[in-house]
Amino acid sequence: MALLQNATKTADGVQVNGFLLSPIIDKCEGCDRVLEFEGENFCASYPNPASKWNDGRCNFATHVKVEVAAASKVNPLKASKRAAKGR
Ligand code: SF4
Repeated sequence: MALLQNATKTADGVQVNGFLLSPIIDKCEGCDRVLEFEGENFCASYPNPASKWNDGRCNFATHVKVEVAAASKVNPLKASKRAAKGR
């Protein structure tokens, strides 16, 4: 995978192009962007996955799309009013 092509394991952890990578967090489990390197799991998109979940949900997560779709569902009452008006 592109992100980890230049990855090296150092005493501080896994580094890519000078960035220190933090392992994924439990909320990342199941995401397609999770990559394994040297026995640890990292994110293909972010060096620090935990910070992506600080304000709720990681916007790049591939495994939580269903919940997002459900949350943004149209208000059923408004939808039925629209339908009644023939729009
Ligand atoms: S894209 Fe988000 S959810 Fe997926 S591994 Fe990276 S930080 Fe975790």
